[in-house]
Parts: sequence; C-alpha cells; structure tokens
Amino acid sequence: MCRAAWPSVVKRGCIVTVLGNKRILVTGGAGFIGSHLCEQLLADGHEILCVDNFFTGWRQNIRPLIANPNFELLRHDITLPLSVEVDQIYNLACPASPIHYQRDPVQTTKTSVLGAINVLGLANRLHIPVLQASTSEVYGDPAIHPQTEGYWGNVNPIGPRACYDEGKRCAETLFFDYRRQHQLAVKVVRIFNTYGPRMHPQDGRVVSNFIMQALKNEPITIYGSGLQTRSFCYVDDLVRGLIGMMNTAPDVTGPVNLGNPHEFTMLGLAQMVIRLTGSASQIVHKPLPCDDPRQRKPDISQAAALLNWSPTVELDMGLVRTIAYFEQLLRSGHPKILAAEAA
Ligand code: NAD
Ligand code: UDP
Repeated sequence: MCRAAWPSVVKRGCIVTVLGNKRILVTGGAGFIGSHLCEQLLADGHEILCVDNFFTGWRQNIRPLIANPNFELLRHDITLPLSVEVDQIYNLACPASPIHYQRDPVQTTKTSVLGAINVLGLANRLHIPVLQASTSEVYGDPAIHPQTEGYWGNVNPIGPRACYDEGKRCAETLFFDYRRQHQLAVKVVRIFNTYGPRMHPQDGRVVSNFIMQALKNEPITIYGSGLQTRSFCYVDDLVRGLIGMMNTAPDVTGPVNLGNPHEFTMLGLAQMVIRLTGSASQIVHKPLPCDDPRQRKPDISQAAALLNWSPTVELDMGLVRTIAYFEQLLRSGHPKILAAEAA
C-alpha cells in the first residue's frame, strides 16, 4: 500500500487519486478520550485506523463510528509491533485510571514503554508526526504549584502509581531521544484530569464515581479529607488541544500541558455533583490511597502561546453533560452496569 502524504496524489493499483484527507492511527481509540478524538477526526474528513486491545476500551464507545467507511478498527496490543501505512499517529493506548492501571502493573509499564517504542519505530519508518498522550502524573505529588512544563516532578519510583507514572516518564524519554537521534516530529502533551461522556462507569475515577454514586443516592466516597485538589478539563476542550498540537510545525515538540486551570477540592466537587443531580447522597470519608497527589493545577501558558488553546467548558457545564450520559447509561440497563450492581 502507498502511504498518502497530505494533500497528495496516491496510487492505488493503477488509479491515481487526489486526497484531501489524512490517514490517522489512533491507538487506544476505543477508550474514553480516544473515541472522542476518532469522532472529531472523522468529522474533520480524515480516515481513521483505531487500534485497541479493549483492556479498558468499550466497543460501545465507537459503535456509532463503525458504520462510517472512513473508520477502521484493529484489535491489537501495542506492546507488539504494528506495520501499517498512515500519515499521523496519536498514541493514547494506556489505561488511565488508578484501579485499571494497577490491576496489571507490569502490563501498564509495557504498554507505555514498549508501546512507545513501537509507535516511534513506525513513525520513524514512515517519517510522520507522532503524538504522545502523556500525563500530569509525570509531576507526581508536585512540589511546585501550578505545574509548569519545566518542573521535573516528584514521583515515587517504587510505589503503586509508579507503573503508570514512570512508564509515562520513560515514554517521554523515548520520544525526545527519537527526536534527538532521528529528528522525528514528536509531539508530547501532558494531559491533566479529563472527564466527560464515555468515561468508564467503574473506572474508580473521582468524576465517574461521584456521579454514579449521586445518581443512585449512594454515599459519595471522599478519600482522605477531601481537601486535595484537581483541575478538570472537559473532553471536547482536550480533543481540540490534541489536534491543535498534532498540527503544529515539526519543531514544536512540547511537552505542553493541556488541562483546565480552575482548581477544585474533592469536597467542592462532591458538593457540586450533589447539587447538579439533586441527589440525597451523603458524604462519607475513606482512606486516602498511597501516593495520592495533594494538589494539581496546570500552567497552560505554553498551550496558549503555541496552540492558541484554552479550555472553554466550565466544570458545572461539563458535569451537566456528563451526568446526562451516566443517567442514560443507567437507564439503558447495560450489562456492565448491571454486573457492577450485582457485585
Ligand atoms: P481509557 O482507559 O479510557 O483508554 C485507554 C485505551 O487504551 C482503552 O481503550 C484501552 O483498551 C486501550 N489500551 C490499553 N492498553 C493497550 C494496549 N497495550 N494496546 C492497545 N490498546 C490498549 O483512558 P483515557 O482516559 O481515554 O486515556 C487515554 C490516554 O490519555 C491514556 O494514554 C492516558 O494515560 C492519557 N491521560 C488521560 C487522562 C484522563 O484524565 N483521562 C489524564 C492524563 C493522561
Ligand atoms: N477520589 C475520591 N473519591 C473517589 C475517587 C477518587 O476522593 O471515589 C480522589 C482521589 O483520592 C484523588 C482525586 O479524587 O485525590 C482524583 O482521583 P482520580 O482517580 O480521579 O484521579 P488522579 O488521582 O489520577 O488524579
């Protein structure tokens, strides 16, 4: 198969076609963020190859996309090499929630490290840009606030979060070594807590937990005092930032923080969710997980300067949309919801 540069003339057999779109590989495309990214890229007129091993991804997330002739799904584990012909790669494959990435920590590190080696090798062979979905977790429990890209982080290398944090840090190292060694057009974004429709209802993350608990009038579980902070970015804002970063000039490598700088305590989030759902839930406190970062808030001046990017969806508005999604999911009686309720 010929690789399409864009816009370009491509030979398929003896037919020459002028293409106005790109062929884009999205690893982790059946996950929460990946499915929104695939949807937006399709809407922008591109052809999408979604690669996922369904470790945390959900077929339901991409069901509306399957009928689109520009969408292709490949079940594949990115710890294994992949040979395809594409014009850009977004590397999102990796479980993101602590309960999921700690379920098989060795696989989590392999996904980040071997996955990075595999997508970088592919991008290098094809001479195409590759974007890495890195994370605010590279800052660990940060000693500076808000976090700028220049901060090197405060990560416990042997704790239960290390499989994810150190895996992502090593992936960043590989991206920048490919840049230095092979002049590859790498793009590294550090994503801060993102939420929205299609979050996994049992992924244990704070937004999905609180909403599911509130909708079922169950106790809202705050870990620790609830005074720890996070900054929540609505998924549509994030996807706009990812696409913006991919399409910057080849010398724009990042790392660039993408997140919403408005900071909330978990107590404040719980109260907001209770108010927006009209729930009768009470707040209960549970032990704080090991190495849980105390505060997190991105400095997004790089994203503003390089991508002209800033988030537009405030937390209450994004929560309303997310609550509507989970309400619909609960009403649908989806087997995954029923299984969790029976457990
Ligand atoms: P998610 O768990 O919903 O999606 C990850 C996807 O990757 C899933 O579809 C999963 O099946 C797939 N996957 C996992 N291991 C794989 C492997 N070895 N091979 C192929 N596919 C594999 O998580 P998400 O929230 O959509 O996160 C997407 C990316 O963004 C991740 O890389 C994550 O680290 C990063 N990120 C997310 C957040 C957030 O708040 N959601 C924050 C920082 C970084
Ligand atoms: N958290 C909580 N109750 C929950 C789930 C999470 O209080 O039911 C807390 C968690 O301890 C952390 C914050 O919410 O301080 C964000 O947790 P999440 O797992 O969503 O993201 P991360 O810790 O990876 O930023």
